[in-house]
Amino acid sequence: MKIKYIEIPCFIIDEILGDCKERRPEEACGILVGKTRDDVIDIEEAIPMINKLGSGHEFMIDPERLYHVWKTIDSQGKEITGVYHSHIYHSSEPSGKDIENMKITGLMHFIVGRDYEIRAFNFDECLKEIKIILKDWQASLP
Ligand SMILES: [Zn+2]
Repeated sequence: MKIKYIEIPCFIIDEILGDCKERRPEEACGILVGKTRDDVIDIEEAIPMINKLGSGHEFMIDPERLYHVWKTIDSQGKEITGVYHSHIYHSSEPSGKDIENMKITGLMHFIVGRDYEIRAFNFDECLKEIKIILKDWQASLP
């Protein structure tokens, strides 16, 4: 999948960061739902998922729960456009396992680092970082 950039509303970024904070010291994980149009991923929703490993060093999305969520999403004409997870002890740089996951699933990964920095990556022949564009940021100003 050749992706140029990702568009995401600010409130979803807040939800992802909130989920990652709440679930410390365990790695949080979830899926990013939306649509892909041409070379842009439009994210419309973030759905937290259980980290089956219950670990602060790695994550695994519960496959049974994922299947149920996917069925609902599919019936709404939407797609799973990516995965997010947090790093408790490291920066938002992808681990070797993260890169393997990207290769296997073909999904874009949002990684929230120890310092809550978010970066997006995709594996397209090689590891690529994708630009994140925040939507509606003016709306969140007081
Ligand atoms: Zn990771």
